[in-house]
Amino acid sequence: MKVIVTGGAGFIGSHLVDALIDKGDCVHVIDNLSSGKLRDVNPAAKFHEIELTSQKVIDLIVKVKPDYIFHLAAQADVSKSTAFPAEDLRANVAGTVNLLEACRVSGVKKFIFSSTSAIYGNTGGEMINEETIASPISFYGLSKLTAEYYIKLFHDSFSIPYTILRYGNVYGPRQTSKGEGGVIAVFLEKLKNNEKLKVNGDGLQTRDFIYVGDVVTANIAACQTEVNATVQVSTGCTTTILQLIDLIQQIHPVPIEYYHTNDRFGDIKHSCLDNRLAMKTLNWKPAHEIEEGIRKTYQSFH
Ligand code: NAD
Repeated sequence: MKVIVTGGAGFIGSHLVDALIDKGDCVHVIDNLSSGKLRDVNPAAKFHEIELTSQKVIDLIVKVKPDYIFHLAAQADVSKSTAFPAEDLRANVAGTVNLLEACRVSGVKKFIFSSTSAIYGNTGGEMINEETIASPISFYGLSKLTAEYYIKLFHDSFSIPYTILRYGNVYGPRQTSKGEGGVIAVFLEKLKNNEKLKVNGDGLQTRDFIYVGDVVTANIAACQTEVNATVQVSTGCTTTILQLIDLIQQIHPVPIEYYHTNDRFGDIKHSCLDNRLAMKTLNWKPAHEIEEGIRKTYQSFH
């Protein structure tokens, strides 16, 4: 199978590339290395340092004629999206449209898009499902939601098959403290530098943490279904920030020190994503308990 992974030098994309190479696929990576690292790209992949919005992307897709495109490249840093909304729009929306234009010409079996729970904003409810009204509170969330709409309209207009995967808070090896949902990486980096952890608010806010390996299997499972669907890739379970510290403490050899600050402006209190539609549609389920995922991630930081 011939595939293109955009963002294949990034945190999630580099793990997906490893898994695709392991199963024998011919993998092309498109990445401009704005946050990704060349050293994380599997040497068996064909690497193309290209900007998502460039004509070179279209030329490459038309030449390679991939069976599947996994689109992960994005400006995924919420603070950056607030500082530079136009750049966010360019990378996340215009970049996606450029890829879709290429798919129109070359034809693909499926366009698999990495989306996010950030599209929902403050829902007020504890359990989010795919029918929950999306009302983003960051430009990042807005750009990803807009990209979703483009994908659906390209499907309706030009029959490009798609799967949209909305992730919870992804964590695992190679994640950095920048980008989306990186509290585990932030904590592990601080511990490595013998610094105290900063807990926003009371630490009782909940998040749906999903291990990167489970996000990879969901992407690969999306190739096996012909349904065009939008599904949440998550565990359906929540962990508070204080529970997270307890879990890390079970592995960390010295007592963890932390302090509380005010709630972070705009932070949602609870986030849990129902994953039943993904399990049914993709015939997939997350395989990592949080204890195991934290252990693997901790080991990669030390
Ligand atoms: P990342 O920043 O590690 O990876 C993104 C990659 O895209 C990087 O390698 C970067 O260099 C590349 N890139 C960015 N802009 C580009 C451009 N204009 N042209 C070409 N390449 C470009 O981020 P990640 O955490 O691996 O996220 C991957 C995807 O998953 C993103 O689409 C993100 O929105 C989504 N997502 C991530 C999380 C999370 O918790 N990490 C949660 C939900 C959704």
